[in-house]
Order: sequence, then C-alpha cells, then structure tokens
Amino acid sequence: MKKPTLFKPKQGLSGSKSFNGRKQIDDLYKNSDWAEYSKKFLSYNPQCYSCGERSEAVDHIEPHKGRENIFWKLDNMVPLCHKCHNFVTSKFDRYWKIGNSVVPKIKWMAENRAIKNINFRVKVVPKGMSGHTGDISEILVNK
Ligand SMILES: [Zn+2]
Repeated sequence: MKKPTLFKPKQGLSGSKSFNGRKQIDDLYKNSDWAEYSKKFLSYNPQCYSCGERSEAVDHIEPHKGRENIFWKLDNMVPLCHKCHNFVTSKFDRYWKIGNSVVPKIKWMAENRAIKNINFRVKVVPKGMSGHTGDISEILVNK
C-alpha cells in the first residue's frame, strides 16, 4: 500500500539574507544628500522616463541593495512616476540579486517608450554642483 504523500511547502524566500541590512539601506535614503539630490535630479528630469507623466521618484536601474557606489552611480538613475516606479520595484527589483541581469527591466521601459513615442533622454545630474553634465545618450540594453 502506498503511503500518502505529505504536502511540503517550499521554504520561504530568503533573498533578504544576501542583501545588506535594512538599516544600511534606510541610512542611504535618510542621508540628507539624497533628499536634496533626488529633488534636484527630478527638477532636471521632470518626466517619467517610461511613460512621460510627471516624474516623482528616482529609480536605480541596477538595484543598489545597499551598495553605496551603485546608489550614487550617476548614470544608474532614471526618473519615474510613482506608478512606473512601483511596477518596476515589484516586478523587477524585489527579488533581484547582485549579478542578475537588468535587461528585462530596461526592455520593459524601452517598450513603454516606443508605444508612447517618447524620445527624451535622461539628464546626468552631478552631485553637489549646479546644472547637469549632459544627457545619457540612451539607456543601453547591454548595460
Ligand atoms: Zn511612468
């Protein structure tokens, strides 16, 4: 006689263990430089890169996961509206791990832009200076 097979739930997702601590990530955002910087970035980049609506959040294309060098990498930032930012965060960034590709996320943004015929580029905004250095020619899929 066959023994009944017990249903074993899969182990819970443990992705957070490979990231830096939540406190370290919070500290990056609480840094007063970021509050000031992100406002400035959005003032130079007033439209959502993905849909063209008003920009409301600075997204890190490659999720920083607490890494300060990626957090402050100037050509890793893109202006998004809350709707697009929430979408990429839940669909692409949430379970992203260091070493994973960012191509699916960039492709998603590129497809939205193509649908809406959006052509503007992201302005690179230097930290602690006025003005911007120029536009990123395009956000490359092979980044
Ligand atoms: Zn948007």
